[in-house]
Amino acid sequence: MQVINPATGERAETVEEHDASDVQDALERSTAAYEEWRERPIREREELLAAAGDVLRENEREYAETMTREMGKPISQALAEIEKCAWVCDHYAQHGSAYLEADSHPSPPGSDVETVYDPLGPILAVMPWNFPFWQVFRFAAPHLTSGNVGLLKHASNVPGCAQAIEDVFREAGYPEDVFQSLLIPSDLVDDIIEDERVKAATVTGSGPAGRAVASTAGDQLKKSVLELGGSDPFVVLDDADIEDAAETGAWARNQNGGQSCIAGKRFLVHTDVYDEFLERFVAEVESLTVGDPMDVDTDVGPQAREDLMETLHEQVEASVEAGARVLTGGEPMDRDGAFYPPTVLADVPEGCPADSEETFGPVAAVYEIDDADGLLAKANDTELGLGASVWTTDRARGQRLAREIDAGCVYINQLVKSDPRVPFGGVKESGYGRELAREGMLEFVNRKTVWTE
Ligand code: NDP
Repeated sequence: MQVINPATGERAETVEEHDASDVQDALERSTAAYEEWRERPIREREELLAAAGDVLRENEREYAETMTREMGKPISQALAEIEKCAWVCDHYAQHGSAYLEADSHPSPPGSDVETVYDPLGPILAVMPWNFPFWQVFRFAAPHLTSGNVGLLKHASNVPGCAQAIEDVFREAGYPEDVFQSLLIPSDLVDDIIEDERVKAATVTGSGPAGRAVASTAGDQLKKSVLELGGSDPFVVLDDADIEDAAETGAWARNQNGGQSCIAGKRFLVHTDVYDEFLERFVAEVESLTVGDPMDVDTDVGPQAREDLMETLHEQVEASVEAGARVLTGGEPMDRDGAFYPPTVLADVPEGCPADSEETFGPVAAVYEIDDADGLLAKANDTELGLGASVWTTDRARGQRLAREIDAGCVYINQLVKSDPRVPFGGVKESGYGRELAREGMLEFVNRKTVWTE
């Protein structure tokens, strides 16, 4: 695997891939590790997870720099990502056993009926490059703690992150092979899911990757959890705090170079506040510092790969051709590396790429909409349904609107974010299943009913 530093276009490293026989060996070791791991008292599994959190904090600089070098995330955001990974470790180290406590049920006199939660075995996680540590820890923290073992197929542009994550678990004292990184291309994934030793699969990534994993898992009658894209609406009602909405909106769209499934992507603004919002929003977007991702003052680094930036620019060009107006940005930057500037498009016509496709980069589509019904209709006018953000000073009005929006989560007067305490996932083509909180932990367990007379 060749890693190109997206900030310079230069080769950062070359990593040797695993082949099919390495995969067979890994599966064998994974199965053996599971037999011992599932028998460990959960307290011990929680302690090891807490130790993984400590390892993350101790080496945060090294891990953050690996991320930044491989996929261009600004270093301050990379450091914050490592801290968030340590937080999810703390969370399940503290709450794991409570989440897995048996649930009892009403039962006839003289009998006890309860649901207990047993692990499934080796679980495959197919993960993306955009939050290369967080997406993996979001999977591993709950599912290793419930007694499963993990096999990671990470994105091909972040092999250093994949190896570093395996090292975190080793350094924390996990038994060998409880968590393994497979450095493989995606065409080996089907064989792994089809292997009887692998019990379930989860994927975070694009629709095509999700469909591929889900259909193979479905064919094998294996459980899958999918966290795919989003085209999140950021709805600004006529009574919103415009200053706050504009400032938060600019960050919601541009953090991580705009490469986030839960970024605000379509800004739907009530006509009464449209001009004020747009002026402030463009000013906020233009105030972001684009530059060297290793510089602590950088807000927006390069896009993670040259080809991804080219796809984004094609979406912008096609949208402009269809009638969208560029208010700022709109052209790749004239410098080495995959730099695309924060961009704002207004008068976005229905059906153009910025309207109907996920834009995975710093491109905001802004709409002027006459009334609340129109705002709701446009919010739901997408095949995706991951998150949504609603801005209003009337909390009850925001909560009523939240119930009408087809999404896995709605944040009122806040940008959409994931949090270890709160279930996370989507509806429609954004996927199914949940991650995080108790709900996420229970996705990959056997919810076994035990009836005792
Ligand atoms: P992909 O969805 O292709 O990559 C995500 C992961 O899936 C990688 O590990 C990839 O491996 C793997 N993968 C890809 N195709 C298959 C397949 N057929 N079977 C099994 N695994 C597969 O994302 P890209 O990097 O190509 O980015 C393209 C677009 O995907 C982005 O522009 C964005 O729209 C979306 N995306 C969404 C993310 C999210 O958080 N929801 C995250 C990343 C991307 P490999 O790298 O080896 O191809």
